[in-house]
Amino acid sequence: MRSPSITIARVLALGLALAALFAALAPASSLADEDPAGCTDGVGYDSAIPTYQDVVGRPLGDGPTGNTGRDLTSDIYKYFRAVKDATAASPRVRMLEKSYGKSVLGQDLVFWVLSTPDNIDNLDAGRKDAAFWAGVRDGSVSEAAGLAAVRSRPAPAWITSTPHGAEPAAGEAIARNLYELAARTDCWNAMRLRDMDFFLLPVRNPDGRDAIQRTSAWTFDHNRDFGTQNQIENGSFLPVFKQYPGVFYIDAHQTGNGYFFPPNEDPVHHEVSDFTVDYIGEMIGPALRQAFDDQSIDYFNFQTYDLFVPEYGDTVPSLLSGAAGMTFEKGTSEVYGKQVYEHYLAINATIDVTAQNKPSILRGWVEQWAEAVRQGEQCDLEPNELVSPLTEPLKQQPSYDVCGYFFRADRHEGDTVALIKHMQAQGVHVYTLDTNVNAAGVREFGTGTSGVQTLPQGTLYIPMNQPLKHWIQAVFGEDPFEPIEFFYDVATWSYPMHRGLAGSGFLTSQLPPGTLMTEIDDPALGGVNNGAKPVLAFETDSMQALAMAFELLEKGVDVARARDAFTSGGRSFSTGTALVDASTLGGVDIAALAAERETPVTGLDGYPVAHHPMVKPKIGVYSQATSAPNSPLEKNAAAPSPGHCATQVGGVVGAADYCVALFTLTDKIGLPGYTISSAPEGMLSTVTATELGAGDLVTKNYTALLNANQSIPAGAGATALQAFVNAGGTYVGTLANGRPPPATPA
Ligand SMILES: [Zn+2]
Repeated sequence: MRSPSITIARVLALGLALAALFAALAPASSLADEDPAGCTDGVGYDSAIPTYQDVVGRPLGDGPTGNTGRDLTSDIYKYFRAVKDATAASPRVRMLEKSYGKSVLGQDLVFWVLSTPDNIDNLDAGRKDAAFWAGVRDGSVSEAAGLAAVRSRPAPAWITSTPHGAEPAAGEAIARNLYELAARTDCWNAMRLRDMDFFLLPVRNPDGRDAIQRTSAWTFDHNRDFGTQNQIENGSFLPVFKQYPGVFYIDAHQTGNGYFFPPNEDPVHHEVSDFTVDYIGEMIGPALRQAFDDQSIDYFNFQTYDLFVPEYGDTVPSLLSGAAGMTFEKGTSEVYGKQVYEHYLAINATIDVTAQNKPSILRGWVEQWAEAVRQGEQCDLEPNELVSPLTEPLKQQPSYDVCGYFFRADRHEGDTVALIKHMQAQGVHVYTLDTNVNAAGVREFGTGTSGVQTLPQGTLYIPMNQPLKHWIQAVFGEDPFEPIEFFYDVATWSYPMHRGLAGSGFLTSQLPPGTLMTEIDDPALGGVNNGAKPVLAFETDSMQALAMAFELLEKGVDVARARDAFTSGGRSFSTGTALVDASTLGGVDIAALAAERETPVTGLDGYPVAHHPMVKPKIGVYSQATSAPNSPLEKNAAAPSPGHCATQVGGVVGAADYCVALFTLTDKIGLPGYTISSAPEGMLSTVTATELGAGDLVTKNYTALLNANQSIPAGAGATALQAFVNAGGTYVGTLANGRPPPATPA
């Protein structure tokens, strides 16, 4: 679920017996042109395919209300691998396992692909179906070629569990879908296998599932991170769409009561394609209603869950894979088996309606990419539309043209490159301008006005006339043009604005005809010019550059910051530019650092302006606990889930924001020097309430304390903090509890 809010059931369940609910749906008669060879008229099950109970030794979905009945990740994986092994010699069905990385706590991240032996053989080899559909998505396969293949190639589709570990029933449900798909011998099922490739991902967040915790081990909500992909479970998965896009993407969550499936509530992001909206609203939605009505199962839609901000497991696959991206939500208020069954039912109905309409769905899926290119050529933003019959009126439409986004190659390089590489990892095409270009309609972020400006040679350019235009606009756009005065969570994140990439922006007019540009694989803005000079300068206008300054200090290199702006080698440098004394580098390879941090370094003959030496910092990250919390960096074997921040030993409270801060400093920014509590403090360490109260900030020479929403009540800790600040220490507080202690009135 997206939040702990209680949802309202629209239809009351009639309480069918669970045994009856688990009976397989009667197959519809095959609508295929011709039944696959060897299939049976009635439903039969291939005894070579093991059931869940055969493998795990426990009935599928065994458990009470709530989520404690869930099986561990290892059991789910065990079943999927057993079915894979059982299909190895089957003439009817075949399965592949694909690894895409490791979770924070080291568990395998895997998905499986299921189809006929012929389709599996031709997924990555032979006719290369995956590369073909990926080519349609990236523009290298023409629309005409894509349309010509809608009957001959299978349609790929994704069936995944939520990344919320405390909402586990989809894991077992997808195991049930797997069994039905793999074991059933009837002609309808044979047609489903012939016409589709099923990408099955039963555990999206193994650390959270096993700990029965919503979040990643770092206490981030993965379902707010599908777009940004800061968490490794997302960062290693979402780029898989570049290789294996799908026509639908099911993200099966859990809520309090009832069952939600789309159509969504308004608003829907205007860049979600008409294909996606119509496939969800006019095909899948009615099919699911029919399936649930037939069994008198409680459900609701056009309610609560919108399709607006591009951060979720529905909006992101919709925009990024052109899929019918859908959140399913099953209440945990019923016994676990019913939770599992209803997810199974919704998934099965989605598969059936897709298999039944496969050519027309694939046709729409193909056409939307070419349509996106055409919109981009015209600089058109897709108009808003309302999806719920109960919503009115439409508040606004996108009000200006966007032809492309430009990024200056001489500002914020480290952060600009990180963003560009992130977009490239999703399949976005990026170019550099071959010459200076005098462009009209240049609108820098945040200025609200367009004008003529020269974009220098080397400027990075992302034109909108490319298939991923919808995604680009959804995550770069300054304004989401919300269609109604309401949305579920946040309005949007414009990544370039959020990351402070001032000076970059977008074009409201096309570049002049004939503008020369070159597509790039890697912006490669880092490196050293004149590295043999005595002083090495780099701008500190990116998070990466600042982190590089700290990394140099941590290695014992002398770094100063320029008091005044200056110009050297044709580049103007701002105040605060880092100036490195090259004679102190020792064995430090600054060229490697500059490349890794994508931060250009310029050699100078001497210090160009007055400068202030930087002091190697000693940063404490505050925890209100009396001992260091259980975290991926300091696993506590006594915690319920060692290394998972959401599980702590008694007495440690409020660790979530502490862990988020620790993640940001170490994993995301890459500051070196974090030391665990048993080691002498380095540049970064945890300061506990006990250490704060004992006056460690002053006696152990800390330079800064970061307090991420941890409570510091009046008493020894607050007094020690005041003494630290009065002596020149830096206090950084975030969120509600991070504010300084109230001043005592005089
Ligand atoms: Zn959820």
